[in-house]
Amino acid sequence: MRNTAYVLACDADRTFTALNRFDPKTSTFEGEYSLLHNTYSNDGFFLYRFLIAHRDHPLVFLDSGSERYYHVIHTYHHFQEDDIPKYIEEKVQQQQEQQHDLMAKRSVGQIQLLIAKKMIEKEWESVKNEVSRSERDTYILLGKDWAFGWSVRTINEIVERGNH
Ligand SMILES: [Zn+2]
Repeated sequence: MRNTAYVLACDADRTFTALNRFDPKTSTFEGEYSLLHNTYSNDGFFLYRFLIAHRDHPLVFLDSGSERYYHVIHTYHHFQEDDIPKYIEEKVQQQQEQQHDLMAKRSVGQIQLLIAKKMIEKEWESVKNEVSRSERDTYILLGKDWAFGWSVRTINEIVERGNH
């Protein structure tokens, strides 16, 4: 992320929208900033609205290395400024909900795994109590014992990993 910030301005309406810094890795601008949430929109929401609202006007693209940039941000009207905190609030909330859903889904997955483990353990227990009547039986029981043990260990590892 470079430190240069950008704005797009319309001289005819003396209005600008802040794009802030550009991330070459994702090819996106940070977008508008909400001081209240200390975060950027990280999308083109206000940029697109600005383009639509000023589609017939010549626009100027300014970077913070130029004097005009500071002149514009201090004297021009900040496009839809009052909508910014509300929009970012909704976006943050949405992200939190998605995060919550993800966690909920993960814990349902964990519970299913633990149920499967209980079932395997029960089977495993019955194999341990089986009495071998031949050498062949012994091999089969050892094989089953190994398979059930492996399944339980694998589930434990997955559950353990999921808890981090
Ligand atoms: Zn305009």
